This record gives sequence, structure tokens and C-alpha cells, in this order.
Amino acid sequence: MKFQNLTIQEMRQKLISAELTSVELTRACLERIKATDDRLNAFITICEKEALTAAAAADQQLAAGNGALLTGIPVAVKDIFNTLDVRTTCGSKILNDYVSPYDATTITKLRELGAVIVGKLNMDEFAMGSSGENSAVGVAYNPWDPQRVPGGSSSGSAAAVAAGQVVATLGTDTGGSVRQPASHCGVVGLKPTYGRVSRYGVVAFASSLDQVGPVAGNVEDCALMLSAVAGYDPADSTSVDCPVPDYLENLTAGVAGKKIGLPKEYFIDGLDPDIKTAVNAAIETYRQLGAEIVEVSLPHTDYSVASYYLIAMAEASSNLARYDGVRFGRRQDGNKGLIEMYQQTRSAGFGDEVKRRIMMGTYALSSGYYDAYYLKAQKVRTLIRQDFHAVFEQVDLLLTPVAPTPAFKIGAMTDDPLQMYLSDIFTIPTNLAGTCAMSIPCGFSGEGLPIGLQLIGQPFAEAEMLQAAYAFEQATDWNKRVPEL
Ligand code: GLN
Repeated sequence: MKFQNLTIQEMRQKLISAELTSVELTRACLERIKATDDRLNAFITICEKEALTAAAAADQQLAAGNGALLTGIPVAVKDIFNTLDVRTTCGSKILNDYVSPYDATTITKLRELGAVIVGKLNMDEFAMGSSGENSAVGVAYNPWDPQRVPGGSSSGSAAAVAAGQVVATLGTDTGGSVRQPASHCGVVGLKPTYGRVSRYGVVAFASSLDQVGPVAGNVEDCALMLSAVAGYDPADSTSVDCPVPDYLENLTAGVAGKKIGLPKEYFIDGLDPDIKTAVNAAIETYRQLGAEIVEVSLPHTDYSVASYYLIAMAEASSNLARYDGVRFGRRQDGNKGLIEMYQQTRSAGFGDEVKRRIMMGTYALSSGYYDAYYLKAQKVRTLIRQDFHAVFEQVDLLLTPVAPTPAFKIGAMTDDPLQMYLSDIFTIPTNLAGTCAMSIPCGFSGEGLPIGLQLIGQPFAEAEMLQAAYAFEQATDWNKRVPEL
């Protein structure tokens, strides 16, 4: 059975009308993964047995007429979400055999809505990276060109959807990790407003920035996945108790009369010419759809990469202190006492990028440097937030590129971490400001690589942002192209 060109909604119809069973669909999905994953490395763990059990249960519910939003639909999640039944490695050797004693709230929600989790997806170790190359199990490959990275850190989440292994996935976005791989793989990825989705049971990287976000092949499926996971959770004190709209309800509302801002700091020299052309064409499409386009300014954009990397590394150094061989994951036994055991465990368990960040983050928080680095970065963050507040007094939405270049070659930036960090320039500011943003396909480079368009919405205005994304998708057909595998 070929399911790759079906959307979630089409799968649901076929399941409800009994044209298809969830066991059949799940089997087809597992076959597709097995047939393609040696070329993609998108999965860290494939949960065949668990998935088929869940699919059989879904079929019973469907037969009884009790289908919910995702009953019987095979999906996969980044290996950063705690799951009771299978290990959660976070792309790290230190958690290689770690099995969580509980499900993340988002996983509970997926299960309650009947979703079938077929596997856990590849990622940069502890979500630190922009290419997928920092994974302990090796890079995932871009389905459009196996010599290129799929982006990161949710590398497998985007590659798996682009390659038709699964119809939708969950990732996390701390500085762009859902949007940037979605852009590089030609799929839709959404970072909700900070507080919109529970992070309970999601391994923490930088707690003031992390958000869970869906990846899918089209805007409607992305909206559906967001509806599935959004909402207040008493177990996550940063989740916000405000009502979740039905993201599917008004998707067709369009953009006529909406004011869309182009922040001039995002249209800089050095932007890849193919990206410039594709984004300019997208702006023209929005104009034709009836939006009013105006230039705006986010004056502190230049400082966002520096302040993000200080804050993210400082928070990471603190969050990752818990991996000491005592409570979580792997222990490297030294015989000379506790301190040596800590040292050996952490030296053997963490990869280079994670170690680099722990050291720099610890430095930025240390006495004497705290005021100069961490505190300063927090003050700059406030200025960046204020930029967004001011701009959203003038416009409803912002349009920007997602990344300065299309997917780059594997190895191209591994020796130059600063260059890699700078490539996050367009995605990081929204994490610092806490607002929502998404990436939708808007073209291809001369080399045939996908290009993403970023929409940035006001805090908790995911519904309006999705409407604008849907209008663009209806007016173009960029998301219809699929890579040949
Ligand atoms: N590329 C950024 C980083 O390396 C963002 C990662 C993320 O969003 N998880 O920190």
C-alpha cells in the first residue's frame, strides 16, 4: 500500500470508512521506514511491536465508532520526548539505554487521541545543533540530497516527513530546531508561543526557550497536530492557562486586509540569492492575496545570536548537571571515588558540542562573569522582546526567510561552530521573544533544494498565523513536490 501522498485528514477518512485499518497503515509505514532508513538515518528507535499493538487497539476503537482526532494515525517523535515503553536517548551516548518511568504530557495526549507512535527520531545531541551532525548515532541525511544535512536539531523529525516515512512528527524548537530543518527538507514546521504546549517530560536543553512543535507535509496537518498537543498542563509551570482555539476551524480565513511586516534587518546582504528570489516571490503572492505589505524594523536583531548562545548555554550547563552517573542513564565506573565517577561518566557520555556548551555556559554563570555575560544577555533579550511588542502594534504578522542558505553539505561547518551559530540568525529572535513562528515551503534553489518562508505571529496567535500559511499554500504548489528516494 502506498500511503505517502495521503494527508492525516485523508487517512482519517479512510480509517473511519473502514477502507483501511490502522494495522495496515502502520505496517505500510513501518515497511517504508525499513526500506528507506538506511539512506536517511532518521530513526534512532523503531517501535514495531508497540506500534502494532497500539494500531490494533485503534482499530477496535474505530470499529466501535469511538475514533478521536488521531485514532489509528502513525506518527513519530523526536527522541527527546520521554516514553514509557521505549528508550529516550536524546541523541546522546549518556542516555543510550535510558528508559523513562513516565510519558511526557505531549506523548500522553497523542496516545489519548489514538495516535500510533512508530518510532523515536534522530536529533542533535540534547538538541544542540543546526545540522543533525551532533547526534551520537550519526547525521540524518537530507532526503533531497544525501550529501547534505537535513538541518537540526530536529533532523529526523523533518527528514522523516519529507521522505514519506510518516505523515507527521513532533520536534522541539529552542532556537529554530523545528523551523530550520522543516525549511531545509521542504515541509511545514511550527514553533508555538512559549507556554502554549507542555514541556513536561521533554528533556530540557534551555528551559526559558524550549518549545514543542509539530512537523507535517502541509499546513492543515500541522494545525491538527498542534490542536492535539496544545494546552495548559499543571505539571509544567510555564504552560499558560488560556483556551486553545480549534486551529482547523477557520483555516480558510485568508489574509485580505491583514498587515504584514517585512523586518528590514532580515533582508540583508549575504542572504543566498535563491532565497531572496523565493522570499520576494512569496511577498508578491501575499500582496496578490490582499495583504498590505509594509517595511518594519526590529533594531536589536544583530544582538540576538550572541545573547541566545549565552542564555542557552548557561541554562544547558545547569540542566545537564543532572547527568552525573547517579540517577539518569549511563555510569562509567571509576574505582577511585565519587568525583572520578562523575568525571569519567561525563567525559565518556557527552559529545564535543555538548561539552563545549557546558564549559561556556558554566563560565558565563560563574562568579565575577555573571553580570558581564549572563545578566547582560538577559537585558539584551528584553530589548529584543520589546522590538517585537512594538512591531506588533503596527502589523499582524511578519514575513522573513528561515535560514540564510539552503541545506549545506555535511561537514561544511563542523570545524567552525561560530559560523554554524550565525546561521540561526533568523529563527533565534522569536525564541528570545517567546512568540510563535513557522516555516512553510516557498521555493527551490537552483540546485533543487527546498527553501522555507518564515511567518512570525503575535503571542498566542497561532490560529491567524496558520490561516496566513494556509492561504499561501493554496495559492502555490511548493509542498506538492516530493524528493525521489
Ligand atoms: N541551532 C540552535 C542551537 O544549536 C537551536 C537548537 C534548537 O532549537 N534546539 O542551539
